[in-house]
Amino acid sequence: MAERSYLDWNATAPLRDEASAALAAALSLPGNPSSVHAEGRAARRAVERAREQVAALVGARPGDVFFTSSGTEANMLALTPAIEVADDKRPRSRLLVSAIEHASVRAGGRFQREALDEIPVAADGRVDLAALAAAIAQSPRPLVSLMLANNETGVIQPVAEAAALVHAAGGLLHVDAVQAVGRIDCDIAALGADLLTLSAHKIGGPKGVGALVRRNDDIHLPEPLIRGGGQERGLRAGTENVAGIAAFGAAAAAARRERGREAAHMLALRGRLETGLRAISPQATVFGADAERLPNTTLFAAAGMKADTAVIAFDLEGVAVSSGAACSSGKVQASYVLAAMGVAPPLTRGAVRVSLGWSTTEADIERFLTAWRKLATALSKDERGIAA
Ligand code: PLP
Repeated sequence: MAERSYLDWNATAPLRDEASAALAAALSLPGNPSSVHAEGRAARRAVERAREQVAALVGARPGDVFFTSSGTEANMLALTPAIEVADDKRPRSRLLVSAIEHASVRAGGRFQREALDEIPVAADGRVDLAALAAAIAQSPRPLVSLMLANNETGVIQPVAEAAALVHAAGGLLHVDAVQAVGRIDCDIAALGADLLTLSAHKIGGPKGVGALVRRNDDIHLPEPLIRGGGQERGLRAGTENVAGIAAFGAAAAAARRERGREAAHMLALRGRLETGLRAISPQATVFGADAERLPNTTLFAAAGMKADTAVIAFDLEGVAVSSGAACSSGKVQASYVLAAMGVAPPLTRGAVRVSLGWSTTEADIERFLTAWRKLATALSKDERGIAA
């Protein structure tokens, strides 16, 4: 097969070597972590080591990490009216989420639809803190969910400022850090988060493993999503995915060790990409460019570009990118993130997301730019009616 460039790391990252080795080693462990014999204890050690590694990545204590089957499940687990803090066991009546959250947060977890309010974002892609303050004033003690960085634009959200507003009103803050962790600093205390969601496959672990991390044991989630055995301290029944969890831990350790170097590497290549993009198409729009962004993400659109055809054209040139607005069926819908930022159609349907990772090379960026040059030339011919 011809060489290809994978530039869709926000969809998923390749497995890190460390994670692959940990996965293989843990797959050969015969025991169940709940068993008391030596085989069981070995499996338990693999899970608990991973818990320490994941906790260290976000500055938490191992006892505050709960493994789940995905970031989606961790979000679902976090968003419940029954969440308790210290001695306050009164249910939370309202859930406030930003308008650009991942679908797994916008679905509202275990809150009724009527209890859910969306907080608007500004044109730069950051949540509107004045609107958040106003919503909090209307809804005392809310549970608020705000992502640390957006999956489409990469725009980093003012989480610590939001946390101060939320806590002053007796509220609690859940932070979906799935896209941010491993790319920017992500310390649960510095963020002011009460709960934090992580997903293994965005940091080089396997797909199908995630974690919900709590600030400390003041935070109590009394309602498991899956009932049965007492795994994950009663919060998630079912024999642990030992190999997946062990690999998540190894990926977390590598991400923690390499973050500074990898972020600088991605930022330099992203700079090269955006300079090249603008040189080829001076009118192209890079969304969220006025705000602080993840070092690896570019969401862009150009006049006449249709995301679905552009993604196919890039694919044929050996470059994997995604439509900013693809849903799980692969169909391109208008991007609700861009719509929330006030971007008008047809740009909301036309945006393409390019996301880089630790093994992206200059050659990948060149391949992308070569493909874009071809596509942009075809688009400008179309615009001038030459192709018609
Ligand atoms: N939250 C964000 C911001 C995401 O980008 C994703 C995945 O794309 C998720 C949550 C869901 O994570 P998972 O794929 O592990 O369910």
